[in-house]
Amino acid sequence: MSEHSSNKPLQEVPVDGAWVHCPACDELAIVALPRVTCTTCGLTTDDPPPAESSVARMLGAGPVGADRTFGLPYWLQISCLGHRLWAANPEHLAYLQRFLSADHRPNRGLGTGLPHWITSSKYRPYVLRGLAALERRAASVQHL
Ligand SMILES: [Zn+2]
Repeated sequence: MSEHSSNKPLQEVPVDGAWVHCPACDELAIVALPRVTCTTCGLTTDDPPPAESSVARMLGAGPVGADRTFGLPYWLQISCLGHRLWAANPEHLAYLQRFLSADHRPNRGLGTGLPHWITSSKYRPYVLRGLAALERRAASVQHL
């Protein structure tokens, strides 16, 4: 991906290229439509079974962030302020960080649809801390 395209505001949550939990081994799987492929156990399928993911057990509050194609829980999610903070993939995560860090937020694009607890200036430090934790999680597998 070029610098140019990565700086454009995202219009929607990425669907192709989403990072999700593998329904077989719970490790990182990547959506490459029309399939999802696991980076660890090698599962490749266009019809994965429902995920029984550790994410649902680990994190208490709020609905699990899950990809729209397969309903698999996103790899990048964390409990934050009693909600679940999630990103579909590192590109989406970087977008959220840029959007929330900006002094003057663009009034178009994906960020305008974010829930209030994410965009509230009162909670912003906590949300940014949560996003930083997700960034470290993403970085831990970026060698792929
Ligand atoms: Zn797997």
